[in-house]
Amino acid sequence: MRADSRSPESLFDDAETPSTVIVDVLIPLALDIAYSYKVPTGLTLAVGDVVHVPLAARETIGVVWETRTGAATSNLKAVIGKADAPSLRPHLREFVDWVARYTLAPRGLVLRMVLRAPEIERNERIAMGVRLVGAPPQRMTPARQRVLAILDDGLLRSKRDLCDKAGVSAAVIDGLIDEGTLVPEPMPKAPVAPLPDPDFTKTIFSEAQSQAVDALIHAAQQNTSSILLLEGVTGSGKTEVYFEAVAETLRSGRQSLILMPEIALTGQFLDRFEKRFGVRPAEWHSGISGRRREKIFAALASGEAKVIAGARSALFLPYANLGLIIVDEEHETAYKQEDGVNYHARDMAVVRGRLENAPVILASATPSIESRVNAKARRYLYVKLPERHGGRAMPVIATIDMREDAPAKTKFLSPRLVGEIKETIARGEQALLYLNRRGYAPLTLCRHCGHRFQCPNCTTWLVEHRFRRALMCHHCGHVERRPETCPSCSTEDSLAACGPGVERLQEEVAEQFSEARALVLSSDMPGGIERLRREIEAVASGEFSIVIGTQLIAKGHHFPYLSLVGVVDADLGLTSGDPRAAERTFQMLGQVTGRAGRGHTAGRALLQSYDPEHPVIRALVSGDAERFYREEIAQREAAGLPPFGRLASLIISANERLPAESHARALKRVADPPAGVTVLGPAEAPIAVIRGRHRFRILVKTERSVPFQIYLKEWLARAPKPTGNVRVEVDIDPQSFY
Ligand code: ADP
Ligand code: ZN
Repeated sequence: MRADSRSPESLFDDAETPSTVIVDVLIPLALDIAYSYKVPTGLTLAVGDVVHVPLAARETIGVVWETRTGAATSNLKAVIGKADAPSLRPHLREFVDWVARYTLAPRGLVLRMVLRAPEIERNERIAMGVRLVGAPPQRMTPARQRVLAILDDGLLRSKRDLCDKAGVSAAVIDGLIDEGTLVPEPMPKAPVAPLPDPDFTKTIFSEAQSQAVDALIHAAQQNTSSILLLEGVTGSGKTEVYFEAVAETLRSGRQSLILMPEIALTGQFLDRFEKRFGVRPAEWHSGISGRRREKIFAALASGEAKVIAGARSALFLPYANLGLIIVDEEHETAYKQEDGVNYHARDMAVVRGRLENAPVILASATPSIESRVNAKARRYLYVKLPERHGGRAMPVIATIDMREDAPAKTKFLSPRLVGEIKETIARGEQALLYLNRRGYAPLTLCRHCGHRFQCPNCTTWLVEHRFRRALMCHHCGHVERRPETCPSCSTEDSLAACGPGVERLQEEVAEQFSEARALVLSSDMPGGIERLRREIEAVASGEFSIVIGTQLIAKGHHFPYLSLVGVVDADLGLTSGDPRAAERTFQMLGQVTGRAGRGHTAGRALLQSYDPEHPVIRALVSGDAERFYREEIAQREAAGLPPFGRLASLIISANERLPAESHARALKRVADPPAGVTVLGPAEAPIAVIRGRHRFRILVKTERSVPFQIYLKEWLARAPKPTGNVRVEVDIDPQSFY
């Protein structure tokens, strides 16, 4: 082999033919490398430009990752043209590379999260309006009269608006245009996101809040990245406080991103923002329509939109000058994405903040152990709000020992909880029953033969949803009708529901409190996000006296009439094999009990438990969060678990059990872990089959100092390639272990 591996021809080409510009284009598919294309003469391209390129037999878009010169005769395909989309700034490209390196996802897949946002290239239809210009029509009708009365002020109105207001069809308006009474005129473009006013209102802060505000404003004023943990009990005013950092960022002309775990449900948040800043922020989540997404995308790239409140995917938007990132409820598991690119939005927010020189504020009443450790170690600034605003007390939390105060057979509410609910609603206050189980019952079995209904695609039980008259798998979405007779032994009326879901609880509530207005809030009720938002509003305005809900009611909502929270099964989360089970339960129950007593009445919470001496339950009752964190952190440290060590999961799956298992074993054989790395498994996954895929897991545990990604990459590179339908998925910093 010669040192110079180019062929003599190519040397000759270099010398004899003019050179041409070649671009390496990253394509938003599961590819790690960028493909090279020639740039046709007359087209000028820069790094970051979005381009149309041929790929196999079709055309696709991609982003110029690099430009260089090469021989004009090279037989590369040519770029088709530039797409009508904002160019990607260097920080965003760096971010794509960074996320790919960290998560081991192909760069193209990460890029896809940036480009999937809008459907690039669609011409905007211009909305038309009408204005009154001419004489009244020859023939007057009541409908026409209504239209003319509205337009009497001479203003331009959109046709659609006019139809709604006047209660007429578009034909009525078209008729008036034909007669020359009205004239069509294009509507001016409405701003995508009106400018929030940092000084729209002024909040008066308490002493402790003022100190927090100062720290946040100071961080926001710096043009460098810093990370700040804002820890404050539920109702302490974290939102009000971080709004001041947003205000400061607005004053400096930079953009703010507020990440929220459950953005689709945060109607209340948007209202509060509007109260503080005069307008709502732009929203970004899966419920936003394609055209709107496109507009927001462009408005962020141009710098016109200043504040966006969004789900984790908003982290990948093309900000022109990002000046602040807030991660609200930073401990939430919803921040971890677990398909496609496995990334944790909180951690990647920290990375993006660094790249953009923007401060990052992590807010929570019950921070993740990771953030707590970082704050204590002074890697993060640490700001605390120890008290509820306005002298409101934290809810008093007590347990109900279910061994002593047992519910009646096939019932789930203890006599004591029932009594407390009675008293609460008699006073005209609200009670909330929390149970993190959708549907009617988590298991259905035949009393005669013991048959249990299992998902045909997964090793899970089917959950009965009585409201929909169906049995459903919560992992793959499989749905079947609940039969009248047992499919195994054909006995009639032998099927029994085992255990409670929120729908079953509603039944019990209806029996016990037949007079009370009760509502189930669950994400799977028909009507979608809009209905949920309306229902949450109704709860906030005191319309219901008993609310039954899954975890989505625990987050961030402000229900002023709510004074009692009953946790139906406080032990539910504690029994899983998840290393974060204690932390999660502490956070979840801290959130949900924190809904109580945010209005003018004191709040209390009752935890039904069969194990009231469990450290998590004890910590919740005593309110001694410090102690809980101390003990939990000590345990993590002793076990070398995050953040003291690092974890990665390899999930090996296949359509059959054997190939999955043997590939997992083959991987393990070549793991060759260096010092500081332990490779555990392979073991069959706790849910051994999902969607018909048999699953095995390998857990990699390393010390913090080990260059983790490099080791994993090398290992996977030397491992046998998966064949057939075997797939290997890498999950860095896994949050779930099923
Ligand atoms: P957290 O985000 O910590 O749960 P919030 O910011 O939601 O707390 O505050 C709880 C309630 O107290 C809200 O209704 C909020 O408007 C109110 N509040 C907090 N601080 C102030 C303040 N300084 N002035 C007026 N109202 C406040
Ligand atoms: Zn299933």
